[in-house]
Amino acid sequence: MRDFVNSKARPEIFNLKPYVPGKPIEEVKRELGIEDIIKMASNENPLGASPLAVEAIKKSLDRLHYYPDSNNFYLKQKLARVNDISEDAIIIGNGSDELLKLLAETFLSPGDEVIFGDPSFVEYEFTATIMGAKCINVPLKDFRHDLRAMLDEITDKTKIIYICNPNNPTGTYSTRAEIEEFMRKIPSDVLVVFDEAYFEYVDAKDYISGIDYVKEGRNAVVLRTFSKIYGLAGLRVGYGFTNPEIAKAVERVTEPFNVNLLAQIAAEAALDDIEHVKKSCRLNREGKNYLYSQFEEMGLKYVPTEANFIFVDTGRNSREVFQKLLQLGVIVRTGDIFGFPSFIRVTIGTEEENKRFINALKEVLGE
Ligand SMILES: *Cc1c(COP(=O)(O)O)cnc(C)c1O
Repeated sequence: MRDFVNSKARPEIFNLKPYVPGKPIEEVKRELGIEDIIKMASNENPLGASPLAVEAIKKSLDRLHYYPDSNNFYLKQKLARVNDISEDAIIIGNGSDELLKLLAETFLSPGDEVIFGDPSFVEYEFTATIMGAKCINVPLKDFRHDLRAMLDEITDKTKIIYICNPNNPTGTYSTRAEIEEFMRKIPSDVLVVFDEAYFEYVDAKDYISGIDYVKEGRNAVVLRTFSKIYGLAGLRVGYGFTNPEIAKAVERVTEPFNVNLLAQIAAEAALDDIEHVKKSCRLNREGKNYLYSQFEEMGLKYVPTEANFIFVDTGRNSREVFQKLLQLGVIVRTGDIFGFPSFIRVTIGTEEENKRFINALKEVLGE
């Protein structure tokens, strides 16, 4: 049987590294037999889902036997209105993860090249590698995207450049000036994918979204998600803005019912939930300041963030720190998978969660 797979499966699949997800709460309960667990590992919203979304779902439970609308009509309509963009410039996916895969399926063939930062979001490498494209990793400089170095890597084989802004796992952002220079210099036949999963959390005054480039008709895609600030990670729905030609091409490879009925309904309702977004931003800002001050007191170096997580140097083997935090019921992410073996990435939680995390971290590092 193994021989069958080895000889018949597409060779590209053997180049894929397995995805390391944030450890689910239930798994930690099973493995360690502890009950009281907080997850600060996957940048989920600690306040939970948008209440308006939950209410909308409850009201639509009698419609589950129907297929969802394959055109996402109402969700697109609302996204178009909110973002002042035409409906035919919008793509919707089963999470923005799926949109990354659909973009790869639309554009990438074996031998093509893609460029992204290192470390950055792992899905760029995953989706490009499946299609047989060659991945060019450009190391971050001071934890930030080095856009000039990325431009230098462009060849006549380059199809896509991914800019994760703010970047996961570092939380850093590329400034308006940097993006403008980059967009002036980039050849028109390279697709720029701006991954803006944490867009709503950004406070920096000199941040810009890629959406204006999309509206100008450039070969660009802006990806956003309902998984983070809207608190709908479990439902899987993400969206993107791009020019209508690209949107149409992506639609060709999209499964007819890729976004489920509840996800569409919840996402549409969540867009109206301005209160929940505001509350989540406020909580995040307060939590960020608290964690900064605690890290400083503890003498730990951290990377200032524009997102809802912090990349912090524990000065120890992060796998050991991770394991010990786990024993205390706190799940975080280790930095070794991102090439920073002494760092952890922690999601900013509620006030109570942040305190519990800091107490646990003090205990672990004080040993
Ligand atoms: C969480 C995240 C996403 C995507 O999430 P979906 O749940 O698939 O919408 C995309 N990009 C980055 C950088 C992320 O951190």
